[in-house]
Amino acid sequence: MSPVNTPIELPGWKHVYSGKVRELYIPLSSESLEAADQLLLVASDRVSAFDHLLEPPIPDKGELLNRLALWWFDRIDFPNHILSTDVPDAVAGRAIIAKRLDMYPIEAVVRGYLAGSAWEEYQQTGRVTDIELPAGLSFGDRLPEPIYTPAFKAPAGQHDENITFDQSVELVGADAAAAIRDASLSIYAQGAAVAEAHGLILADTKFEFGNDLGHLVLADEVLTSDSSRYWSQQAWAEGRRKESFDKQIVRNWLLDNWDRTGTPPELPAEIVSQTAARYRELFELLTQG
Ligand code: ATP
Ligand code: MG
Repeated sequence: MSPVNTPIELPGWKHVYSGKVRELYIPLSSESLEAADQLLLVASDRVSAFDHLLEPPIPDKGELLNRLALWWFDRIDFPNHILSTDVPDAVAGRAIIAKRLDMYPIEAVVRGYLAGSAWEEYQQTGRVTDIELPAGLSFGDRLPEPIYTPAFKAPAGQHDENITFDQSVELVGADAAAAIRDASLSIYAQGAAVAEAHGLILADTKFEFGNDLGHLVLADEVLTSDSSRYWSQQAWAEGRRKESFDKQIVRNWLLDNWDRTGTPPELPAEIVSQTAARYRELFELLTQG
């Protein structure tokens, strides 16, 4: 299948937006994204890290992510945005038709383990935003209970910013903020239990929600390796805590080969193939394990 890493023409749809990873289309008959009732969401093979789009793309990543998200949407007990997978042939397997929602500008992050930006913050303050954590935790430790640490979804091109729950109330109102938090903790718990049954730890993950006539709906992608940090239980227990099934290989290589200013260097072929293999491995561990 063609990789579709730049927007292509698709019969019946018009292209309206390129995210870092996905291309958004609306029906030809719709005036604008805001006016559309449906969306065609096409997952490309593009990979981003540290908020930069990297070259080259990761072969089959879009299809693996899309298929994994669909597998999860089926298993998660919460209303979601999927309408159909009956999409144009050129993007079969890597696209969905979704209900177009008014998206909340919140990245709903849940963490069961200490890693990523939470680990960096904890080392400096002992907290994650305003959430106090026990002293003496190490990288990758399990938290006493999963915590909800939202981020403000910045407009394209800007960095997302961690916020407190109270700041999320200011952004979306008390009712929506509480509903998003509660839904996120519930979906995390469901996902973590399934992952555990497949020998995996769901260390942390990010959800996006939209509003459909007053109802909270799970949107975007769910529990994929782009939105989540998965570890092998066995590696974790043996103290190997940095081998996640996501783009950590890409991040590590960039940290060693780039000073994080200007345009990132092109990824070498072996980093691309190792990353592709990691994405495929997670897909197989979950769906065939
Ligand atoms: P950005 O939009 O800032 O580029 P991103 O890199 O996460 O962020 P992608 O995942 O590439 O973006 O694109 C998906 C876009 O579609 C996101 O902006 C997401 O919020 C939006 N989206 C996902 N599901 C829906 C939906 N059901 N209705 C409306 N918008 C949606
Ligand atoms: Mg996204």
